[in-house]
Amino acid sequence: MYPASFRYARPRNLDEALRLLEENPEAKLLAGGHSLIPAMKLRLATPALLVDIGRLAELKGIREEGEVYFVGALTTHAEIARSSLPLLPLVARVIGDPMVRNLGTIGGSLAHADPAADYPAAILALEAELRARGPQGERRIPARDFFQGMFQTALGPTEILLGLEVPRLPGYRFAYEKFPHPASGYAVVGVAAAVLKEGEALKDVRLAATGAAYAPFRLEGVEAALRQGMGPKEATQGYTPPVPLAEDRFASAEYRLHLLRVLARRALERALGG
Ligand SMILES: Cc1cc2nc3c(=O)[nH]c(=O)nc-3n(C[C@H](O)[C@H](O)[C@H](O)COP(=O)(O)OP(=O)(O)OC[C@H]3O[C@@H](n4cnc5c(N)ncnc54)[C@H](O)[C@@H]3O)c2cc1C
Repeated sequence: MYPASFRYARPRNLDEALRLLEENPEAKLLAGGHSLIPAMKLRLATPALLVDIGRLAELKGIREEGEVYFVGALTTHAEIARSSLPLLPLVARVIGDPMVRNLGTIGGSLAHADPAADYPAAILALEAELRARGPQGERRIPARDFFQGMFQTALGPTEILLGLEVPRLPGYRFAYEKFPHPASGYAVVGVAAAVLKEGEALKDVRLAATGAAYAPFRLEGVEAALRQGMGPKEATQGYTPPVPLAEDRFASAEYRLHLLRVLARRALERALGG
């Protein structure tokens, strides 16, 4: 399958990339190409211009910035899998296959906002902040405000995601449980957990799901039940999510609810058990 014809530009820096986006409303950014190129081949996306940001040094790498890690938008899944970031390596390791992990980027994945993508659950559980730059300058977007629906984010059409700030969360333990689609490997349902214990006391618990609905969400009902002293089994077995669950030819909403409860329990047990 061939995409529709398009023009191609490779800006030398971020300012040039931003200018190209402003001057060309039909343009799309190209990072690792592992979501955009398949969509173009299926003619689900027909951008007139591809702005290839793949070599912009400003968007690469992971660095420590005070209380947080900054993860550049162009950091690949493979780099994240090898890193010592909280939670994200557990997620990156189960994305796609080695080729996808070596070329796909966290910024591309978050900006694409596929409802079955893996990172969104972790980004919510980490309470990360995303950093974007547009014509009006730079702004921060808390993870809870970033995902706005299926393939929809808070990013404007002329904004570039610079990366995300991930809190260090010392002492926390993490888990990511995923039921992968057997063909694509995407998450039919995935649940990320972050827990902080002091002795036997549970100090903090965060649980978030991807794949289950049309956008990722926190399992606040389960978190509250755990804070009241319930164990993972009781807290998850009758759980009702706050949003309608997704239904498609792969899985009914009922099946997704079952997976959600089981994976939430497993993620909690794994994180609580260390
Ligand atoms: C066979 C296969 C299996 C896969 N399996 C999984 C899986 O199991 N789990 C999973 O989560 N994902 C999976 N993916 C998707 C993969 O993770 C992609 O790498 C990712 O979704 C997109 O990242 P990219 O860098 O390739 O972005 P691209 O495809 O280049 O871009 C995707 C979208 O994001 C926009 N964009 C890119 N960078 C930026 C930026 N910095 N600022 C603003 N907008 C930007 C682009 O304009 C485009 O609209 C799979 C993909 C394939 C092909």
